[in-house]
Amino acid sequence: MKTYRVYGLWTASKVIGEFEANSEEEAIAMAEDSDGAHASLCWECSREVELSDSAPYKYEAEEA
Ligand SMILES: [Zn+2]
Repeated sequence: MKTYRVYGLWTASKVIGEFEANSEEEAIAMAEDSDGAHASLCWECSREVELSDSAPYKYEAEEA
């Protein structure tokens, strides 16, 4: 038998901000360019969870 290391993958979300725009696409483009379009974990959280990428892999917008 072999030993297997098993990983769980989660998705997470963060509110980047609220943007005044004419469409969801425009708001997302503004969010992408903003300083908030990244995430990081503190030292304690990063002992347990690893972020694969600091930038979002997907954006979603809804009316605020
Ligand atoms: Zn933390």
